[in-house]
Amino acid sequence: MEKKLSPKERLAIQRQAMPEQDATARAHNFAEVNLGFTEQLALLEAERCIQCKDPKCVNGCPVHVHIPRFIDLVARGDMASAAQSLLCDNALPAVTGRVCPQETQCEVECVRGLKGKPVAIGYLERYVADWAMKNHATVAAATPAPQAATGRKVAVVGAGPAGLTAAGELARAGHDVTIYEALHQPGGVLVYGIPEFRLPKQIVDLEVKRLTDAGVKIECNVVVGRTWTLGELRERFDAVFIANGAGLPVFMNVPGENLKGVYSANEYLTRVNLMAAYEFPQADTPVLVGRKVVVVGGGNVAMDAVRTAKRLGAETATIVYRRTLKEMPARVEEVHHAEAEGIHFEFLVAPLEVVGSDKKWVTGLKCVRMHLGEPDASGRRSPTPVPGSEFVLECDVVVVAIGTRANPLLTATCPELKLNKRGNIEVDENGMTSIPGIFAGGDIVRGAATVILAMGDGKNAAAKIDDYLRQAPVVAR
Ligand SMILES: Cc1cc2nc3c(=O)[nH]c(=O)nc-3n(C[C@H](O)[C@H](O)[C@H](O)COP(=O)(O)OP(=O)(O)OC[C@H]3O[C@@H](n4cnc5c(N)ncnc54)[C@H](O)[C@@H]3O)c2cc1C
Repeated sequence: MEKKLSPKERLAIQRQAMPEQDATARAHNFAEVNLGFTEQLALLEAERCIQCKDPKCVNGCPVHVHIPRFIDLVARGDMASAAQSLLCDNALPAVTGRVCPQETQCEVECVRGLKGKPVAIGYLERYVADWAMKNHATVAAATPAPQAATGRKVAVVGAGPAGLTAAGELARAGHDVTIYEALHQPGGVLVYGIPEFRLPKQIVDLEVKRLTDAGVKIECNVVVGRTWTLGELRERFDAVFIANGAGLPVFMNVPGENLKGVYSANEYLTRVNLMAAYEFPQADTPVLVGRKVVVVGGGNVAMDAVRTAKRLGAETATIVYRRTLKEMPARVEEVHHAEAEGIHFEFLVAPLEVVGSDKKWVTGLKCVRMHLGEPDASGRRSPTPVPGSEFVLECDVVVVAIGTRANPLLTATCPELKLNKRGNIEVDENGMTSIPGIFAGGDIVRGAATVILAMGDGKNAAAKIDDYLRQAPVVAR
């Protein structure tokens, strides 16, 4: 189909806004905040892409989605081909279209951003991915069959974005792939961490189903390091990909942190998201619904926890962050949404102690005000306490969202696996660990990072595992 607009007319189109639920209403429900583009908005936004000859946006994407190609197909109204193109590059586009920090990845490279706003690549990705889900039969019929079976077996540890992506690529290459997942549901952080109002679980389920339809096997409730050792997996499979994430919470190490009412963000979000505690007592798992909830941290996890607290019914839900808005690592969109929903922000404030009652329930968070000095190793200005500025923030629930690190459960059972000083698995330029045939990627290698970086690792590792298997001798199993 031909495009209808001239280049000049396309340049005149402004970036289309994402329709969203009203802020007051959504602060009290768990339904998705962003409603998605209509077809009309998608067609208009797609026309804004000027189809650069050397598209920098593609390099900005860790899985190298051919962005101009799928956007051009959208602009021509050929959604089926756009979906094919996108799904060929990205195993979880409905996820990444919702949660990727596009403003620091693909969109920051968009030339339209030099004189105005970049093309809304993420919103278009979401539109096409959702179209593909609604038109599943059309997309499935046009999907190329996997390559002929190679007879090689690969085990993947962990069904998060890294493991799912690697598994999808390996199955497409003809390998027999089984994912072992510790939890009762696949998805990793996508199902236990990121809340329903940002990423509905049904979306994750449908993306996972596309992979299982393509031949990927998933066995849940299997803790590698307990149910099976890594050595046992290596004996049964021709290669192993470890993608078990970095889900061990980091705590503040301040007095009072074990009082009743203090949660790690992982526990708090897992209770609410994976175990549906917001439906308690219809669901089995409860969660403390605080009247005044304080969340410590400034990343996506903190933003998810504080917005969850508000939706559960907290009168006040407050972020305590030791730097300023400018240094906050959370996605820009999440911060805007949080502000609109009435979240309070205490910037330049650090926790000193959790204060409690005689019965050991949280009653407040003692804090100190900070000012910013010279940049530290992270490149951000380092916060230092202002003497005499201590104060107590009244609260009954404290959620600690200051980071996570590698869980030693699996690695401790395999001393031959080389780790760095933070406990993350070391890999070579091929993504292979110190044990031949065992590869690793995602947060377990990088430390807590992003969905798309984990997927990029999964995609790269799958290519290297494929090379490795094609050279390795066939072993009868
Ligand atoms: C609350 C929250 C919000 C976030 N928001 C965003 C966001 O908006 N955008 C973004 O890009 N990133 C976000 N992130 C970061 C992102 O989700 C992670 O970087 C990404 O999920 C890492 O993928 P992964 O596959 O390496 O690990 P994970 O997603 O952690 O998956 C690892 C999987 O391995 C399983 N596992 C662990 N140990 C074992 C074992 N021994 N045996 C078997 N299975 C095991 C786990 O149960 C899990 O399912 C967020 C993270 C959190 C916690």
